[in-house]
Amino acid sequence: MTTPAAPAAPAIEVRGLHKKYGPHAILHDIDLTVQRGEVYALTGPNGAGKSTLIRTVTGLAFPSSGEVRLLGRDVHNDGPRARARLGAVVEAPARFYPQFTGTQNLQIHADLAAMAPGGPRVGKGRIREVLALLELTRMEGRKVAEYSLGQRQRLGVASAILADPQVLILDEPTSGLDALSIGLIHRIVTSLASGGCAVVLSTHHLREIATYAHTVGILTGGRLVDTVDLRARQAAYRFRVDDPVGAAGRLERLPFVQRVSTRTPYAVAHLSSDAHVPDALAQLSAGGFRVYEASPDHFDLYEYYRERVEQA
Ligand code: ADP
Ligand code: MG
Repeated sequence: MTTPAAPAAPAIEVRGLHKKYGPHAILHDIDLTVQRGEVYALTGPNGAGKSTLIRTVTGLAFPSSGEVRLLGRDVHNDGPRARARLGAVVEAPARFYPQFTGTQNLQIHADLAAMAPGGPRVGKGRIREVLALLELTRMEGRKVAEYSLGQRQRLGVASAILADPQVLILDEPTSGLDALSIGLIHRIVTSLASGGCAVVLSTHHLREIATYAHTVGILTGGRLVDTVDLRARQAAYRFRVDDPVGAAGRLERLPFVQRVSTRTPYAVAHLSSDAHVPDALAQLSAGGFRVYEASPDHFDLYEYYRERVEQA
């Protein structure tokens, strides 16, 4: 008899994870939680330990200490059941049988997934569907040996999402892809997450990740030095004005302004909604301030990352 995992369990829970290869400590005391529907981007310099962390979270590598739970189940002690709803690409490009076609490779993948306890059934229609989603329909009947690197990478993502995962883990899914393919992966990830799937991906594309990840974990030297909640950093507006300090003082008194700061020549305000931008402008004009520009004040993840990595 199987006991279902508690529904409230986070999608991914990593507690006190340490990992050594021989005498070398690669990961130090990693704690992280990813909720259902969350897109968590893992970033950090080459050699920081991202791939090692991803391999350990998916159960491919064992921790020296600590634990990893997927949907409430221990991935190292209850592996097949913990991984039943996991889709992953842990090395790029994923391994396929080069002498078989894309469709045949996905069929093999589906057959293997169905053999696991509680493993999902994948129909032929679904295989065609994911190939179309990854824009591989044209290649579906061709041997994987004839695929370009980018096509192979997209086939890896197709195999990871084939069985409708609740946890999706991708190691550098966009490295080496062209701009349009990167956009395609982003759209797929966003759509899965909005359906409740938890997504972890490692990437170096900071400016893009800032537009759709919810959380960014910065890993350097095997330590998770920072976890940035991007959702909490949106909705700020900056106003370029002749008197930033005076303008900030005026903005601060408005009921729809939550917080102000100045960064000359800007007054920066967190508004309760961007529907209040015209009201803020009207108030600044009424106060005699000259406004030269008003624009969203995007959080600069790249600058933030640079500072964090240099400090670490
Ligand atoms: P990243 O993915 O962030 O570039 P990795 O996780 O691949 O970093 O590597 C982190 C460190 O672990 C590196 O110093 C690497 O040499 C080491 N490492 C990775 N895999 C192994 C292994 N199988 N045996 C020994 N050392 C390894
Ligand atoms: Mg890596």
